[in-house]
Amino acid sequence: MAKPVVEILDTTLRDGAQMEGVSFSVNDKFQILDNLVTIGVRYIEAGNPGSNPKDREFFTKFNEKRPVMDQTELVAFGPTKRKGIKPEDDTGLADLLSAQTSTIVIFGKTWDLEVRDILRCTNEENKALIRETTEYLRSQGRDVIFDAEHFFEAYRANPDYAVACLKAAQDGGALCAVLCDTNGATMPDEVGAVTAAVVQALPGIQIGIHCHNDSGMAVANSQAAVLAGATHVQGTFNGIGERCGNANLSTIIPNLQLKYGHSCIPDDRMELLTPVARTIAEITNIQLPNGEPYVGSSAFSHKAGMHVDGVKKNPKTFEHIEPTSVGNARRFLLSEISGRSAVLDIIRRIKPDISRDAPEVARVLHTMKDLEHQGYHFEGAEASQELLVCKELGLYQPFFTLEKLRITIEQPQVGAFSAFTYIKILVDGVEEVTAAEGEGPVNAMDRALKKAMEVFYPELTQVRLTDFKVRVLNQEATASTVRTLIESTDGIRTWHTIGVSTDILEASWLALVDSLEYKLMCQQLGLT
Ligand SMILES: [Zn+2]
Repeated sequence: MAKPVVEILDTTLRDGAQMEGVSFSVNDKFQILDNLVTIGVRYIEAGNPGSNPKDREFFTKFNEKRPVMDQTELVAFGPTKRKGIKPEDDTGLADLLSAQTSTIVIFGKTWDLEVRDILRCTNEENKALIRETTEYLRSQGRDVIFDAEHFFEAYRANPDYAVACLKAAQDGGALCAVLCDTNGATMPDEVGAVTAAVVQALPGIQIGIHCHNDSGMAVANSQAAVLAGATHVQGTFNGIGERCGNANLSTIIPNLQLKYGHSCIPDDRMELLTPVARTIAEITNIQLPNGEPYVGSSAFSHKAGMHVDGVKKNPKTFEHIEPTSVGNARRFLLSEISGRSAVLDIIRRIKPDISRDAPEVARVLHTMKDLEHQGYHFEGAEASQELLVCKELGLYQPFFTLEKLRITIEQPQVGAFSAFTYIKILVDGVEEVTAAEGEGPVNAMDRALKKAMEVFYPELTQVRLTDFKVRVLNQEATASTVRTLIESTDGIRTWHTIGVSTDILEASWLALVDSLEYKLMCQQLGLT
């Protein structure tokens, strides 16, 4: 029998936006919305048009644009009406209706302590607030999802009352009642037990779950609720959210769909999971941890020699799923402990017919281990690695000889430039002398080297440096080594090179030279 559909409500734009350091522009929100529509979540919660001008602007623009949403629906989010007034006179509800969404998420209290101390009304009055709000929104033709704030505290304190509040939402016509672990305090066994009890007590209404990660349990709790009968899960992509974040949908969706056979998004969209999670991280301006389950860059990376060997013989040995099924990719990392087969793989990209026992293989392995000992780290610098292989295979001829390099650094008050580089290179016996200014010495060096090389290799004009990272490696107390990593592009391909030295300028120079020579070498050898 097919397992039930589990609806996904993404609240990246609402709860996620409350994460420290995150601020979405209206344009960011539309880009995230596009990604969520692409992956096919059921609902996108985008905030409260009454609570701030940015949310209002978003809903107004959304209604002007009316983007094609396929099976996804945009929802507005706001509180139950205030006590003592009729729903039709409540400006908050009017704001929510003005968002023109066909479904509205209403949050309300179910914990008797909050009813007494925060709302300052009777338990009966609070139930009436929930029922009347729901009824009114239903009368306006809207579907209602009821989010029960602090539900697990509420249930612990007074289970009958907590359930009676959900019943009030059901009586008002709500489609779904969502149990919120607002403080992220509850453990999976309790979430499971409470959810099962609620599902049993309230037949005829869908039960949902909304978890926060304060105890590191948001994903586990969401799954415990689903196993106990919940069929609606709220969370955010990459788990962003206030404090420790919300339940991470990029983990929950594949867990429920691939491990439990539930349907959360259309099957053919699962391979969009990694690109969507990474794009949303990019828009959010957060760095996804390498080890992020399913979507991180290390999620299917193999380093230990025996593991690499195992995966090559049968991927099931060290991979829990096929990486492409979630749009990720398998990677073999080279390291001091990596085996010959990983090295062989890289060499075969350049020389496909090389045998496993060829002396070049041992030589490449030896050189790589040597360099790693000095502080090189080829995992993020595949271009320098391929260059090194070419050098060991005897396929590399230097593209230029450096005759002279002089770098001058000036105080910034002299114009806008703070550094100046003079360079003299030799290509096939022809000399080129040039100079360039730059914002800082690395920039000046990059410009001067490129300018000189372009005289001989005009194809280098398309190459530009897109990222530059420096890392200090404290290998010894007396001298620290610097590692620079450079990302370059020619508009079509992107590649990474590395330089290591005790001198930051030398480390940068090595990475810059590798970047240009890599482009030329690929062209020469016909590598793509
Ligand atoms: Zn929340």
